[in-house]
Amino acid sequence: MSRTETVHSPFDGRVVGEVAVASVADAEIAISQAAKAFESWRRTPANIRATILMKAAQLADERSEAIAQIISAENGKSLVEARGEASRSGEIIRLAAFEGSQLYGHTLPLDANKGTGLEKLGFTLRQPVGVVVAISPFNYPALLVLHKIAPALAVGNSVVLKPARTTPLTALALAQCFYDAGLPEGVLQVITGSGATLGDALVMDSRVRKVSFTGSTATGTHIASVAGVKKLSLELGSSCPVVVLDDADIEYAANAVALGGYINAGQVCISVQRVIVHEKVMADFIAALKPKVEAIVVGDPSAESTKVGTLISEAEALRVESSIAQAINDGAKLITGGERTGTIISPAIITEVNPLASIAQDELFGPAVAISSATSATEAIALANNTAYGLGAGIFTKNTDFAIQAAREIDAGIIHINWTPLWRADLMPYGGLKSSGVGKEGVRSTVEEMTEEKTIILHGRPW
Ligand code: NAP
Repeated sequence: MSRTETVHSPFDGRVVGEVAVASVADAEIAISQAAKAFESWRRTPANIRATILMKAAQLADERSEAIAQIISAENGKSLVEARGEASRSGEIIRLAAFEGSQLYGHTLPLDANKGTGLEKLGFTLRQPVGVVVAISPFNYPALLVLHKIAPALAVGNSVVLKPARTTPLTALALAQCFYDAGLPEGVLQVITGSGATLGDALVMDSRVRKVSFTGSTATGTHIASVAGVKKLSLELGSSCPVVVLDDADIEYAANAVALGGYINAGQVCISVQRVIVHEKVMADFIAALKPKVEAIVVGDPSAESTKVGTLISEAEALRVESSIAQAINDGAKLITGGERTGTIISPAIITEVNPLASIAQDELFGPAVAISSATSATEAIALANNTAYGLGAGIFTKNTDFAIQAAREIDAGIIHINWTPLWRADLMPYGGLKSSGVGKEGVRSTVEEMTEEKTIILHGRPW
């Protein structure tokens, strides 16, 4: 890798680091090395793999503040948020170390099958898939990297990681924890550079058995079309709804939306993008939400008082600004926010949104919530389902019947009753339906997706 490029702060443009720019030839070398390293890593006993991961977890804990500084500098999220993200690193690795050592199979009751007797014994065996290509986005540069690499390594795979071009430094710092913990050479390689250039070489290679991708639906669709016969996990885009019914605790719901719509400047796949409010409580809800949103301190990510920092780039901030302007053109009303200063957009509330307008239908990935009204729980649930996406959803109600109806009827991978979709425990299954993707993350689920099941039959003779 001879070329390098600089990584810049989205807040003030200062240089925060320099990384190699990998070529397609580098990607191929990385896959060869991963294939070689897999041969010994897969034969390393689970307890030794777990010990290395536990050490990596300890290093991630010790380096948490340094990693948070890197996240905030290259991503533009506030230091407060970056510290929250970095502090989960050690725990994700520890969970993976444990789950990766629990590769149980089951015995098969073969004699229940007509014509088969007791002379045979059948069971299943889980084994690592092989070479994993992990491709991650910019918005949670630590969490989303670790949710792939830690379970993949724990079960005995080798990994080639391609982090987002805007946030490679966090990935490199996390990889260093594994190297320093004693992970053998070649088992984890980070290649930095452009996804558009490297993507096809990584995902089409027949030596790669699994592609784990988190990013936009457009890129995920392309990957699915070229990857060929291999295992795929696609964690993609969304337009997450929250339903607020007329019996909800309005103050509580407004408080949750004021968090869930704006954390990380709305650049979260489970961000609250749409709020569908029962018409009877619409005025009360907006009155409760507005002061909370206006109180969010935005600005310099490194300032301790800043809650919400920048978008990832000026181009993204311009895109979000124009989506908000388009919403107003489409007939919606801007209640507060939406002003852009460089890469910062003040938190916005948009009301009277036509559920079919672009601000509701298309992923915004910015700090604004779009509010529409409904006249019943059934209509609100239908509106919640009325986009191409299905990642997360939330409903605020005190009525158990409506809560159960929402749980059963909303087509989303994760449904929160009395909270917004912006909540995640690292061990829970996490992934979308519809255009939001296929497959699940969350440490135990990822362990399942990063392994393959074999069926073993011992053929004895009747005694
Ligand atoms: P993106 O543009 O799709 O990029 C994601 C990753 O894919 C980056 O590493 C990118 O590399 C790489 N890439 C680009 N073109 C590629 C190609 N042709 N083949 C293979 N890889 C390629 O997404 P993003 O803007 O970074 O992230 C935002 C999106 O991620 C949103 O849609 C969000 O909803 C989604 N997301 C989903 C989840 C979830 O769990 N469902 C979680 C977080 C984010 P470069 O950076 O070099 O272009």
